Amino acid sequence: MATTHLTDDCIFCKIIRGEIPSHKVAETDKSYCFLDINPLSEGHALVIPKYHAQFFHELPDDHLADLLPLAKKVAVASGLDQYNLLQNNGAMAHQVVPHVHFHIIPKPSQEQGLKIGWPQQQPSQDDLKKTLGRIKEKL
Ligand code: 5GP
Ligand code: ZN
Repeated sequence: MATTHLTDDCIFCKIIRGEIPSHKVAETDKSYCFLDINPLSEGHALVIPKYHAQFFHELPDDHLADLLPLAKKVAVASGLDQYNLLQNNGAMAHQVVPHVHFHIIPKPSQEQGLKIGWPQQQPSQDDLKKTLGRIKEKL
């Protein structure tokens, strides 16, 4: 396995290298999937790239392209009916481990799994147009 893109002091890099034990679900050359140690519901798993980066946008496209098919495979194998696929970037956005990871979180009932706050705003059409302009300028 290529370990050139891993770091020494990251807990998920250590899991990929096998230096910290994990309950491996599946892996590819570029990605690794294992059970979350403190699940929000039974079967809560994490899919991570074998490439150390804190943020989603820092990942090379080939690693990114490998992650979602693996997440899909695990979701199908888990027999999940309803679930959330979640990816946090930055401490304010609830990222605790600074190595990109997608959570696959089964939602077996209202009480179990992910609980989401959804504080919707009501921007005007003008505000939406300004936002669109700002984003498209940098695309
Ligand atoms: P975050 O809040 O960064 O999106 O989520 C990090 C996740 O990693 C948490 O759900 C936490 O339970 C999980 N986690 C942290 N350390 C370990 C570990 O050593 N082993 C496993 N299997 N999961 C971990
Ligand atoms: Zn790492």
